[in-house]
Amino acid sequence: MTPGGLPPATPTGAPADGVAKRLAAVRERINAATRRAERPVDSVRLIAVSKRHPLETIAAAYAAGQRDFGESYVQELCDKAQHAAALPDLRLHMIGHVQTNKVARLLGAASTLHSVDRASLVQEIDKRHATTDGATPLDVLVQVNVAAEPQKSGCRPEDLGDLLERIEQCPNSMRLVGLMTMPPHSEDPNVARTVFDDLRRLRDAHGGVARLPELSMGMSNDLEEAVMAGATMVRVGTAIFGERPK
Ligand SMILES: *Cc1c(COP(=O)(O)O)cnc(C)c1O
Repeated sequence: MTPGGLPPATPTGAPADGVAKRLAAVRERINAATRRAERPVDSVRLIAVSKRHPLETIAAAYAAGQRDFGESYVQELCDKAQHAAALPDLRLHMIGHVQTNKVARLLGAASTLHSVDRASLVQEIDKRHATTDGATPLDVLVQVNVAAEPQKSGCRPEDLGDLLERIEQCPNSMRLVGLMTMPPHSEDPNVARTVFDDLRRLRDAHGGVARLPELSMGMSNDLEEAVMAGATMVRVGTAIFGERPK
């Protein structure tokens, strides 16, 4: 029992009934940024990052019209995929690092993988896909470690060309759709903006929009910078669902 007979807080500390309001506020931020960038309002897709939040928060966002959700852990994504099967058109995006031995579980559960970062992962997806009944090709983005941070995953910019070619050699199992990046932690929005601009330039150097239509970049604190730099997918967690439970 909580003191004073108050209803217990949800495990997230972010009551599901606040989700619709915060979601609307994030959508408005995206719309304002697209107007400022003179881009069409529907040119940016919001991925609501629900990692470590319970199913009820996903259900609340779904009820408010949200269809794309981001998860960072394979097991959690698979658990949620089972329950989310009852929600039509819901798409789960894998945005975290994927260990090669978890690929089989991911196939069929995720619609899109944002974090392809090495040839061995491409190879494993192709191999596992061939043995997964009825699986459609997985939409994939290559994660690039633009700022060359040692602790961060993502391929080196100089390895990007080779990785893109390897993906395109597996049309039965994967569909190459774009690039993804995460900027270094910084209070200064210019740091993120520089990284986002670098990712766009990398895209332009590797076939442009025709080959790589999607740029997945921008989170709760820097989505405006990302939209200005050309993001087509922003991955927003905290601003929608509140702080993540530990
Ligand atoms: C957690 C996470 C996000 C969301 O970050 P917020 O700051 O909560 O918006 C976006 N992208 C990736 C890859 C993440 O792991």
